[in-house]
Amino acid sequence: MASEQPIRVRIAPSPTGYLHLGTVRTALYNYLFAKKEKGAFVLRIEDTDQSRSLPLYEQDILEGLQALGLTWDEGPDIGGSHGPYRQSERTKQYTERLQALVRGGKAYKCFCTKEQLDEERKGMIAAGLAPKYSGTCRNLTAEQVAQYEKDGKESVLRIKVPLDYEVEFSDLIRGKISINSSTIGDFIIAKDETSPLYNFAVVVDDADMRISHVIRGEDHISNTPKQILIQQALGFPEVVYAHLPLILSPDRSKLSKRSLETAFIEYLKDGYLPEALLNFIVLLGWHPEGDEELLTLEEMIQRFSIKRVQKAGAVFNMEKLDWFNAQYIRRLSEQELVKRMEGFVPEAWLARPEVLTKALIIERERIQKLSDFRENAGFFFEIGEYETDLLRWQDMPLEKVALHMRHVRELVAAGKDGDIMPYAEQEGRGEVLWPLRVALSGLRNSPGPFEIMYVLGKNESLKRIDAAIQKIIDGQDHT
Ligand code: GLU
Repeated sequence: MASEQPIRVRIAPSPTGYLHLGTVRTALYNYLFAKKEKGAFVLRIEDTDQSRSLPLYEQDILEGLQALGLTWDEGPDIGGSHGPYRQSERTKQYTERLQALVRGGKAYKCFCTKEQLDEERKGMIAAGLAPKYSGTCRNLTAEQVAQYEKDGKESVLRIKVPLDYEVEFSDLIRGKISINSSTIGDFIIAKDETSPLYNFAVVVDDADMRISHVIRGEDHISNTPKQILIQQALGFPEVVYAHLPLILSPDRSKLSKRSLETAFIEYLKDGYLPEALLNFIVLLGWHPEGDEELLTLEEMIQRFSIKRVQKAGAVFNMEKLDWFNAQYIRRLSEQELVKRMEGFVPEAWLARPEVLTKALIIERERIQKLSDFRENAGFFFEIGEYETDLLRWQDMPLEKVALHMRHVRELVAAGKDGDIMPYAEQEGRGEVLWPLRVALSGLRNSPGPFEIMYVLGKNESLKRIDAAIQKIIDGQDHT
């Protein structure tokens, strides 16, 4: 039945905040499942809570998913044959269904006040029962309803839940789950006929959008029986559910709301590559067969299987993300790496592609994020001030330093860089290579002198060596 329908899945974010990691993982699993099964991936914006939803957040979510390459087949921006795809544009669809339920006696107006309900709840708890609505308004007559309305009493809509009924579903990840309707009670589905609550809107949307599989976070698992009850009341087809494990912090506590809600764009701005992020995120709850963990999106599609998603919480480990990112940075072609540096380095660096490319070849092994490069590589483009004393290897006299530098300078000028190493072996590696490296970088720590010369080229290298010699001659200030 359900499984014979065309495969259609959705990501249904609420635009009440920036895109975050949890939503990206849910989107990715849905996307992989859809691609693997040759189905459709739908984007729906759940903005029923108008007071907290902002267009700015919606835009951020769309852009973030796009930047990751998780493109959808139908959605609010591109339309599709089962829209509209924004809940705020679907009031007509909800109202029709709410009215149908009331007409059919499957939902009813409840006029109980907050005080009454609080009282009722306290009584149940005191009697050792799980609190639920007692059903006071379940069997009001039409006359009673009319009278209450005439009296101006406020109401909400509740669904009439069948009594003592087992709500069952078979979760693709968690297995069989069943709960008795009597523990749920008649719950609220709408404030009024034009204002559905979350559970009701989701069920209507999933049916209208012909969703076959609902793949979402475990935090929604308690909503599922309610959604099934609404589905059955409306006579909608069954949906297959798969609830993804929680994402935990490294000490296995629930990942703080803060880490979970870090705006996803921050990872991109920090210089994590989209492909590294996807690879890291796909492993938060799923693992391919075999040991290979580095996977392209295409490989993920080939290898993904919802059956291999784990039940246990998935640990979020920032060091692992850094490791993945470093791997991906190393695998980029030189050309591509240079392209990716846009936005991460000053314009002036981009204007010198030759130096930039060579600097990246040297530094790429040392960086974990694109943003690290800027911190490490400034000296290739412009040497900073340094103290003359830094040129000294241990307590070597500066005259001796100048002597070595002059010799090295001649070798470089004659294109005999290959003779520098034998010279250093003879005179002492530290004595020759330390001042050379400082002359080229102006830094206490940097890549080796030959690597730097490779990046700078002959002219700039000579310029810097000359400047170091001049510094010694001038007996320049020691500030
Ligand atoms: N709008 C819900 C959320 O942002 C998702 C609901 C669902 O997937 O059913 O978590």
